Amino acid sequence: MPNHEMPTIQNPLNAYYTDDYPEQKQDYPGIQQNMKPVPDCGEKTYTGCGRLKDRKALVTGGDSGIGRAAAIAYAREGADVAIGYLPAEEKDAREVKELIEKAGRKAILLPGNLCDKQYCTDMVETASRELGGLDILALVAGRQIAKAGIDEISDKQLYEVFTTNVFSLFWTVQAALPHLEPGASIITTCSIEAYRPSGELLDYAATKGAIKSFSAALAEQLAPKGIRVNSVAPGPIWTALQICGGQFPDKIPDFGKDSLLKRAGQPAELAGIYVYLASTESSYVTAEVFSVNGGMHI
Ligand code: NAD
Ligand code: MG
Repeated sequence: MPNHEMPTIQNPLNAYYTDDYPEQKQDYPGIQQNMKPVPDCGEKTYTGCGRLKDRKALVTGGDSGIGRAAAIAYAREGADVAIGYLPAEEKDAREVKELIEKAGRKAILLPGNLCDKQYCTDMVETASRELGGLDILALVAGRQIAKAGIDEISDKQLYEVFTTNVFSLFWTVQAALPHLEPGASIITTCSIEAYRPSGELLDYAATKGAIKSFSAALAEQLAPKGIRVNSVAPGPIWTALQICGGQFPDKIPDFGKDSLLKRAGQPAELAGIYVYLASTESSYVTAEVFSVNGGMHI
């Protein structure tokens, strides 16, 4: 397992990439390996210390970006990890599999489309069968398409964005529930867009508002079972989602510069919170949303 030394103190202003991002565009869903620069998911830096020893995690969107950072960190903390992703993302997913295995843990690849309810069910069933159980559900996959006006949002877009971001959470949790024992943790992925919605992300922002409420209500339902539910609300993070339609291309160079830390975050900077929420360290934390947004106060 890589064990590159992480400095124990670093300046958050320049701890990660600070230059303008080169304007770039890929077809959805985008391949992270082909981005410039390639997002930092902690491949060279995340060092675990057994905080999730022998846990069994399913991470949706685990091939790239924030989900990949969580998947790598989970494995290095001692968990076996299954990842869901779109079939077109096989290249990125294979890298994650290798990284999980290098950490000495089991990796299960589960390609498919979350807009298909049957896939959501099969993904959970296969993950649980192959891992020998399930106790961490990190629901990270998401779809974001920028459009200037409400009349430009096609029914197809509306359907895809709401199905991927919201419906799939219902279907996945419904399938997972019979497998989850007391102590299990569900982590959803919200956004700063739930609190400070942008006009050009109208439909996406609406889904993230829904995820915020979904997570709190689900936490209430599952608390009596000893299952915690929390959500992570990232700000601007450098990932594939941004360069395959999530942002208008002319917004890419300055992406994240309006945060207090004057730069976009990297997925690696989210790994810690996904680990914390999955681990026993957060045993008294449920129905909460955690922001990681460079100081874009909400
Ligand atoms: P990403 O593109 O690297 O990851 C998103 C993943 O979602 C993809 O890799 C893909 O595997 C998965 N996905 C999308 N549609 C799918 C579908 N129909 N079926 C199966 N899988 C599908 O981008 P990311 O930024 O790491 O996104 C992760 C999460 O973080 C998303 O929920 C996103 O909304 C959220 N988020 C991102 C930012 C940001 O600035 N990057 C900010 C706030 C919230
Ligand atoms: Mg991807």
